Amino acid sequence: MLKNVFDHPDTKDIPQVLDRLLIDGEWCESASGKRFATLNPATEQVIAEVVEAGAPEIDAAVAAARKALRRGPWAIMTGADRGRILRKLADLMRDRFEELVRLESIDAGKPLAATRRMDLPAAIDCLEYYAGWADKIAGEVIPTRHDALTYVHRVPVGVVAAVVPWNFPLMNAVWKIAPALACGCTIVLKPAELTPLSALWLGQAALEVGLPSGVLNVVPGFGATAGSALVSHPGVDKIAFTGSPQTGQFIMRAAADNVTRIGLELGGKSPSVVFADADIETAVRQTASGAFFNAGQVCSAATRIIVEDPVHDRFVEALAKRANALRLGNPLDTGTTMGPVISERQMERVLGYVEAGRKDGAETVCGGARAGNAGYFVEPTIFAGVAADMRIAKEEIFGPVIAIQRFTDEEEAVDLANGTDYSLAAAVWTDDINRGHRMSKLIDAGTVWVNTYGPTDTRLPWGGMGGQSGIGRDLGRTAIENYTEQKVVWLQTRP
Ligand code: NAD
Repeated sequence: MLKNVFDHPDTKDIPQVLDRLLIDGEWCESASGKRFATLNPATEQVIAEVVEAGAPEIDAAVAAARKALRRGPWAIMTGADRGRILRKLADLMRDRFEELVRLESIDAGKPLAATRRMDLPAAIDCLEYYAGWADKIAGEVIPTRHDALTYVHRVPVGVVAAVVPWNFPLMNAVWKIAPALACGCTIVLKPAELTPLSALWLGQAALEVGLPSGVLNVVPGFGATAGSALVSHPGVDKIAFTGSPQTGQFIMRAAADNVTRIGLELGGKSPSVVFADADIETAVRQTASGAFFNAGQVCSAATRIIVEDPVHDRFVEALAKRANALRLGNPLDTGTTMGPVISERQMERVLGYVEAGRKDGAETVCGGARAGNAGYFVEPTIFAGVAADMRIAKEEIFGPVIAIQRFTDEEEAVDLANGTDYSLAAAVWTDDINRGHRMSKLIDAGTVWVNTYGPTDTRLPWGGMGGQSGIGRDLGRTAIENYTEQKVVWLQTRP
């Protein structure tokens, strides 16, 4: 059970989350007896010691998911009934909204207001959207040149390995789980080792709303052991991964051995291109929140801001004002607008990039250091005068660090925007609708926002255009296609 180690008035009703593995509807220990600690990144205190899954537990979880796929109530359940379970899960999240908000906030270091506004509503919306799909996954009858009834229907792809990161632990898990369940798949969910708690909460909630045993198995553990065993497992039919490009590459190789389907939602280095004719105030406000939301640990964070010459200085000054107005602090304090980064390692990594920016000759406009000496806080940092070949312009930092570049014409803006190996998201700010439309075609990104930054919606496909941003799409109708396969049936009729 969760330890009560928080010295904070908001934590008295923190939920009691089971700290074991959920396999085949049972909460279990591991064969090795190993546990690992999950910390509150704002205080560095241990929240819980969670049972660590290794290869034997991954085997058991995959076996349970395979069994549930072919036998038991799930295998014969109608789409309408699957939808009802998903809706109940969404209802349970609504009923226990505040406790789940706090659990996610302390485990991932997110300000309460942000978790309330973004993570939970997005997860609930996703469950409800796919609950609606569950009884509408239809095939079609296709006449052929033969005298037979021939139809194509969509069947679940099978056992899904969902491997998710720590930046939006619950939301990312639900993005995989909701469509997979709607389609009738079964799942082994491996949350990130830094943030296992909301996934365990979800496992408990799934049992409470009547999801049959083995349909959702939750196996916290480390990437190199549990994650690797899961993605290499021959009993897995699809790997649904969100995380770093390096792990994505590993998974793609591992998947090749078993020819397993993969969806890879990887990194980003998203440009926000600001033209002089734009509403600069709005561009500053939204780009700042696009860059510093979740302490910059967002795959689509606005990390490269490309500003047209005439408004460059004004933009930089206004952006720095917003950065300096952010209030870093304990995510549970209501005044906090930016929390810590997730871990000491991540903090060191981010500060390493800051150092690289300085060494490469970029101008530090604000920030550039650790904030305080307890908790993993990094000051919101802005670099100006960033050249396209600097590391801070090319590599994903995953922290509150912005690199500003300037341009003089549209062609240069497009070249700069497309100047990395990433292709996840981008924004364009202009009052010229034709230019906005033109730029949206020229910039290589899975999502291009024009005069806004950052919104996503369950109904729209989300993912990169290849390279280090990955392949495939989460969300929308596409996810239904991802978690089903077409099956052809010939019914030979006699004349
Ligand atoms: P990570 O790749 O280190 O970890 C992600 C998950 O993969 C974790 O559960 C981890 O345990 C697991 N893992 C690690 N090594 C593994 C291995 N060898 N085999 C199997 N599983 C393994 O990524 P992270 O640092 O947790 O997350 C940050 C990254 O995620 C960033 O690059 C970010 O851009 C990306 N991200 C992308 C999206 C998107 O939608 N494209 C969304 C959020 C985050």
